[in-house]
Formats: sequence, C-alpha cells, structure tokens
Amino acid sequence: MMKFKQILFLYIVLTFPLFTSFVPVPIKSGIQTIVIDAGHGGKDGGCVGSLANEKDIALSISLKMGAYIKEAFPDVNVIYTRKEDVFVELAERAHIANKNKADLFICVHVNSGQKAAFGTETYVMGPTKSEANLRAAQRENASILLEDNYQERYEDFDPNSTESYIIMTLIQNAYLEQSREFAAKIQKQFSERVGRRDRGVKEAPFLVLHQTTMPSVLIETGFITNEEEQRFLVSEIGQDYIASAIYRAFKEYKIEIDEKTGITAVAKEIKGAPAKEIQSHEAIKPSSVATTMGPIFKVQIATTSDQLELIPDNFRGLKDVEVYEAGGLYRYTVGKATSFSEAASIREELKEKGYIDAFVVAFLDGKRISVGEATRLVKN
Ligand SMILES: [Zn+2]
Repeated sequence: MMKFKQILFLYIVLTFPLFTSFVPVPIKSGIQTIVIDAGHGGKDGGCVGSLANEKDIALSISLKMGAYIKEAFPDVNVIYTRKEDVFVELAERAHIANKNKADLFICVHVNSGQKAAFGTETYVMGPTKSEANLRAAQRENASILLEDNYQERYEDFDPNSTESYIIMTLIQNAYLEQSREFAAKIQKQFSERVGRRDRGVKEAPFLVLHQTTMPSVLIETGFITNEEEQRFLVSEIGQDYIASAIYRAFKEYKIEIDEKTGITAVAKEIKGAPAKEIQSHEAIKPSSVATTMGPIFKVQIATTSDQLELIPDNFRGLKDVEVYEAGGLYRYTVGKATSFSEAASIREELKEKGYIDAFVVAFLDGKRISVGEATRLVKN
C-alpha cells in the first residue's frame, strides 16, 4: 500500500507540468537582482585539495565576481548566500534566491575527479544519462547529509538513490533555455578568454538548482584534484581570471535579456577583470594560463650584442623565439614551461638542433630569477 505522502507527491509530479504549461513566465524588467552562491562552507568543506578546500576557492571567486558585477552595474542588486566561511543549508540557498525574486542564480563550485581530469563545466538543472554528470550532482547534493532533519526538509530525497532523481527530473524546468544560454556564455569566456579546457554545458539533477524559480547555473570552475589546475585555482590571478570570465558572461547575458524588455543596459568601465586572447591550441593544457602567474622556465639558446630579428632564418629554423635584454646583451629564448623538467626536455630537443650550449633560465612576472628560486616557488 502506498503511503499518503507518496500518493500526494506522485500527484504533484504528474500534474505539475500541466499547470506550468499554462502559467506564463512573468515578464520582468531585465536583470535587476542576482544571487551568488559560493558552494559549501563551514563544516562542509566540499572537495578537498592538497593546497585548499573547495569552499575557500568558491568563496573567493564568488566575492571577486560579485565585486566586478557591482562595479560595472551599480544598480544591480547583488546578494550572496554566504560572504564568509559558514555552513548554509541547500534549501536556504535556494530560498534566498526565491524570496529576493532573483533574476539569476549563480552557484560556484570546484570539481574533483581523476588526477588527469581538468577543465571547466557549467551545469543547468535537468535529467542526465551520463554517469559522470550524475556523480557530480550526487556529490554536490550530498551536502544535505550534513544538515539536521534533511529527510523532512527534502521530503525523503536521498542523494544516493536514482529513484529520487527520476522523480526530481519529471518536473519541467521553465527556465532551462535561459539557463543554457547563460551557461554557454560562461563556458565560452572560460575557454576563449582564460584558456581553460571547455568540458561543456551539461545537465544534471542538482538539488540547489531544482529548488530555485529563475534561470540558474552551477559552475564547476576546475578540478582541485589536478595539480596544475589546483595551483591555478588557489592563486589570486587564477581566481581573478575565473571571476572576470563569469562577470563578462553575465554582462553579455544581462544586455541581451534587458534588450528583450526594452532596456539598454550599459556596463561601466571597470578596473581589473583580466582576460586573455587565447590561441585555440593554448586551451588544451591545464597549465596554459598557469604560465602567466607562477615562474616560467625557458631555454636560452643564444646571446648577441646587436639585436637579431626574431625570424626562423636567424635561429636554425626555430619559430617562436623570444628575446630579453640583460647586461647590455640580447638573449634569445625558446619555450615556456611551468616546471624545470619540462624546460629540460625542450633543451634536449634544442641540443639536437645544434644548440649544444642551451640552458634553462627562469622568469617571474617577466623578470629573470634564478632557476633554484623558481623551482622552490613551483614546489610551494
Ligand atoms: Zn561543490
């Protein structure tokens, strides 16, 4: 015999799409209020890395992103689900967005997986057939297990039961299209302006997205389990890059949505918000942007007193030769590596091309530093 609660729940699940199809999405006047949700917090550390916990990275990125948005659009009401290291229940996060009638809900998280996995992905609420997507949702939904009385609050929802997810995804998401559009803009910014690997826009049953009544996305900003990516995510500049990418996606999205309601949104010029012009081949390694923050190792191949033009003919056919000046001499280098061993293997190749005296040099923020110091910085 079915319990009353189950019958009631099934009734709601089966009839809800009928009702929603007759209730038009209310026309609002553009994007006025957004809620930024830094994942986890307090006793819920999220994914654990060797350098940091997910909760801290998510909070830093969220605060930076919110600051950029506020600077560019002072009239936008930017609300945070948390601004410090505190535990906030999943239902409360969604409630904050709903009660403030937010026009957009942005959740910031960090991924975990196998050591080799890296890149960013942005989720919208929806069903999934992918094991990996479901695992990501299960992991994030498991935060409720740290809440008191979660069984009551989430109507017996079990983060580890597939049935719970089937029921959850029966309810149609009125904001799916808009959520997807915003998610696509975020992924585009990540890959084209920050050089992150684009793992795509995905759908999965995330409880926190499910409970909100506005376009919403959950961003996995990178893998804490990938050594290079973790270093990027804990660094100030890495967080600036990620935050500014989301900010620029927001700017595009707001301008588009506002336009549909007859408003012309204008973003103020803002300071910071770094971006790169990424060549397509750069975006395939986790270290592609890491090279702009930590020390860089290069291989020095030649020195001259008069500057040579940087063309292959002058360097035994080598392309991408760079020059720096020191002690009145022009010094030519090849390669950009994030570790000494990577640079050493470039040196071996150069020796085979005839540069038998080639040696490894190191730079930090464009300034030459000793290889020993650079190696220490990499280790830290
Ligand atoms: Zn998370």
